[in-house]
Amino acid sequence: MNGQIKKILSSLHSRHIPGIVSENSKEAILRIMGWIPRDAVVGIGDSTTIRQLRIPEALKERGNRVLDPFEAKGPLADPKDALRQHKNTLTKATVSDIFLTGTNAITQDGKLVNVDAVGNRVAGMVWGHPTSIIVIGRNKIVKDVDEAFYRIRKIIAPNHVRIRSVELGGRKSKTPCAVTGKCNDCRARDRVCNIFTIIEGKPFFTDLKVVFVNEDLGLSWDPTWPKDRIMQIVENYKKSVWIPVGNEN
Ligand code: SF4
Repeated sequence: MNGQIKKILSSLHSRHIPGIVSENSKEAILRIMGWIPRDAVVGIGDSTTIRQLRIPEALKERGNRVLDPFEAKGPLADPKDALRQHKNTLTKATVSDIFLTGTNAITQDGKLVNVDAVGNRVAGMVWGHPTSIIVIGRNKIVKDVDEAFYRIRKIIAPNHVRIRSVELGGRKSKTPCAVTGKCNDCRARDRVCNIFTIIEGKPFFTDLKVVFVNEDLGLSWDPTWPKDRIMQIVENYKKSVWIPVGNEN
């Protein structure tokens, strides 16, 4: 375990949030599956990290009931039906036995920083079930809250919108970042940066468990990293990101 992750685990522990480290995805899946009882209903918050690990598939194969509003990929035959179904599962997933998701960033002193468009993911992290499991790739570690907000606003959110809406041909976005890949702090109806949260301690009625994976997972990078590493993060993200359909409003 490197010193940085050890320090974060210690910070999380002081916030009453236990964490573990897995050297790779395979080990992380085994640890997570071991925590989840076979009869638990598991809700999924939109997370490319979770999809990259293929945990929903592993849970279903084992017989768990999985409420995953983000199963569908690409345009469906009836977008209105798909959207109705999506909203219905979003609601149910927020009150499952266990909630499984990722985070946009974690600071070196153990704060979990997130942005959400709908609110289900950030709500699900802290409310609605006895346990939330948060899986974090090494690329999500930032120095402090200022750097977390910089990453989210300047890198994660605009690239997330541009990749899904333009590169992968998902639902058209009217946000400027869809075209420019840069944030204008827009007021578009389909703005994705609607709810920012910082978790600084264990919520009273929810146990949080954090799993670090010593791999790059999900969408986040420091612009000073080598270009090859950044390109690999983006390519892997494109293979697993959920592509929305219909109109969210
Ligand atoms: S605030 Fe608007 S322009 Fe900025 S990243 Fe979010 S959606 Fe894009």
